[in-house]
Parts: sequence; C-alpha cells; structure tokens
Amino acid sequence: MATKEPFSQSKSQAFDKNHLWHPYSPPPSPTNRENLLVKAASGVHLTLADDTKVIDAMSSWWCTIHGYNNAHINASVSEQLTDMAHVMFGGITHQPAIELGKKLLDIAPSTLTNIFYSDSGSVAVEVAMKMAVQYQYALGNSGKCKFLSIRSGYHGDTWKAMSVSDPSTGMHHLFSGALQAEHFAPRPPIQLQQEWLQDPSKNGLQEVAQTLEAHGKHIAAMILEPLVQGAGGMYFYHPNYLNECRKLCDDHNVLLIFDEIATGFGRTGKLFATNHCQVQPDIMCLGKAITGGYLSFAATLCSHKVTHSIASGEPGLFMHGPTFMANPLACSAAIASLELLESTPWQQWVARIELQLESELGKARGLKGVADVRVLGAIGVIEMDHPVDASLAQALCAELGVWLRPFGHNIYCMPPYIITSEELSKVTRAMIQLTKK
Ligand SMILES: *Cc1c(COP(=O)(O)O)cnc(C)c1O
Repeated sequence: MATKEPFSQSKSQAFDKNHLWHPYSPPPSPTNRENLLVKAASGVHLTLADDTKVIDAMSSWWCTIHGYNNAHINASVSEQLTDMAHVMFGGITHQPAIELGKKLLDIAPSTLTNIFYSDSGSVAVEVAMKMAVQYQYALGNSGKCKFLSIRSGYHGDTWKAMSVSDPSTGMHHLFSGALQAEHFAPRPPIQLQQEWLQDPSKNGLQEVAQTLEAHGKHIAAMILEPLVQGAGGMYFYHPNYLNECRKLCDDHNVLLIFDEIATGFGRTGKLFATNHCQVQPDIMCLGKAITGGYLSFAATLCSHKVTHSIASGEPGLFMHGPTFMANPLACSAAIASLELLESTPWQQWVARIELQLESELGKARGLKGVADVRVLGAIGVIEMDHPVDASLAQALCAELGVWLRPFGHNIYCMPPYIITSEELSKVTRAMIQLTKK
C-alpha cells in the first residue's frame, strides 16, 4: 500500500487553489484567495484545520437543519451501509425508498401523490419541467412547452433550471446563444409583512395575467419559489400572490410548480412554505435539507392529475432516470431526518430563532449602509445598499467565530434549528459587525 503523505495545511490549500473549482468562484489559480480548510463538523460547529471552531450560520446552504454529526442520522446511514450502499432503481425497488416515500406523502400537500427521486435540486427542477411538458403533450397541447417565472428567483444551475432563474443574477447574457428565453413577471411587489392590495396593478398580478393572456397557449407551467426567494435575493413576498397565481394558471391550463428546495422542512416556521398559503401546487420540488444535509438528494412530487395525463399519453413513459435515483444511503439519511422532525420540538426552536433574529438584527435597521432587515422563521437577512464582499466574511471568519457567506447585497443566516440563543447572539453580532466593514 502506498504511504500517505503527512498532512500539510499549506500544501493542501495550495493544491486546492491550483486545481479545484469552487461554486461561483474564479477558476483555479495560484493567485486565488485561500479557501477555509474544514476538517470536521459537529452540532452547529465547523472545526478548521488549526482546531478553531466556528458556528456555521449558513447550515451549509440551507441543508444541515439538525446540525452536523447527528447521532440518529449517523446510525441510520451506518445501518443502511451494512445492507447496501446503492442499487439501481430501474426494475428494482427497496425499503428505504418505500419508507421515505410514505413519510414524504404523509407530510406533503395532500394533492401530491407521486414521487420522482433524483440526485440534486437542479435535477429535481429539470424533472418538474419535463413533467409539465409531457403533461401538456399528452393532452394534445404540444405547443405548450414554455415557462413563466418571476424575477429574482433561483432554481438551479442546469440549463432549464437556469433559464427560469433571474436573468441578471443568473447571467443569462453569458449563455444567451445556448439558453432558451422564457417568460418573466416582475418580482412580487408586496412583501410578506405588508398589507395585501387587491388592485392587480399594485400587487404584481396584472403582469402575470397579461403574460398568460398573450402567451398562455405556449406556456406549460409557472414555476416559482413559494413565499421566499432564496439565492436570487433573500426576499419574502405575500402568500396571496400565490393564491391568485393558482387561479390565473388554472384559467389558462398552466401547471403550477413550487420549488421548495430551500424552504422545505421547516425553515420558514411551517414544514413547507406552501403551508403559508391556501393553495397547493401541481408539482413540488424538494432538496437541500431533505437528507438533513448528509447527501446530495432531491425529490419531485406531483399530483395524480399530472401522473395520469403522462401515463395516458404517448409514449406512456416518463423520460428521465438518474443513475443514482433513490440511492438507499440518501433515503436512509432522509428517513432519519424526517424522524427527527417528528420527534423534536423544531417548531418551538424555529419560533425562538425568529423572535431572537427579529430583536437582534432589528438593531441593524437605520445603521449606515443598511437598506432593509428581514426575518422569517430561521432566516435572517440584512440587506445592504451596496454589494457585500463574500471574501471579507471569509477572512474574518475565525475572528468573528462565525461562518457567513454574504451574497449580492445581503448578509444573511439560516442556522441549524438546534442553535442555542448564546450561539445565535454570536451570529447576529457577527452579521452586524460585517455591515460596518
Ligand atoms: C439550491 C436550490 C436549487 C438547486 O439545488 P442544487 O442541489 O444546488 O442543484 C434549486 N432551487 C432552489 C430554490 C434552491 O435554493
């Protein structure tokens, strides 16, 4: 056996800079800023290579809702590992997929009855969009294959998911030759806490109605993130907007897809953001926190209406099938994560986090450079009037004792639900300190 080279932090970080791509970052180069080297994670803490512990206020991008190294999820995955790590899903099924499916349908909006498992959020969105096109095709509406979305949304990085994400933050101009143009309505103008206005020219629905009237016969589905727009701007809008979109979509035989990849599993204070409104989608995408942050995994849920149409149309098959579909290890992590949501008082924890974020981040209102402060469930946002440099937070991470990753104009946190109030105070102090840099 080859002997392993002894660990050297500087050599490891140099290799990383020179050879490894990172998300939305400059290509590998020796002149890049060094990435933080994390060697372990437990509870709400990341342990850096020099043994410094910092609080992960990002939950690794919405994922680790129960914290890292959770004993219950560890046990579930370890047990599954001794049975089988993976087996193909074509012509084969297994207990982890079945058990997870039952659990998901128990908690999902009642109209959703069928599940397509996949390996990441972007793929779950691709699957949802394909379902919509195949649904329309089967009904004889082969011309209905475009999509309507709203500005400042984010649905992932694969081609079709990118095409319905915000055209400017998604940098559509870079890919304009290769990307199909879809329809966009403005960002819903009425925020979550504001009073709803019936006037369609004030609540954003006039543009939705106009687009559907002009182009509805070519539109298969409307896709949006319910209530909370995540990576596209950390913006919370009024649930009545969704209630009204449902009606407009029904009027034009346009399916409604809710992308709950960021909001699912309690982040907004309810299990799903959908639960804040009165309507249900035809198709819903889940990802990120679905495995409690353990493995890359996602699910697209759809109604009987969608399934029935696809089954009755030609070719009677649904044309998608990822190699790692329903991976048993990922299913076992997801089952354990859902069991934790059943057995812990996470609603109380999220409510406490919301109150504390509101009171502590509220102090940032009126500070120099601060444009807005928004809180919903376990999500806290300080919006600045200028872009924030993410590398600044990275450089200050050890000093602040908190891992934050600002994006665009926003300094934001979405901590694990298990965070204590002392730890959360450290997070809010760090966020406010960052506004002053
Ligand atoms: C993160 C995200 C995606 C993409 O998920 P990946 O697992 O990164 O492919 C899609 N939609 C929303 C709302 C997201 O937050």
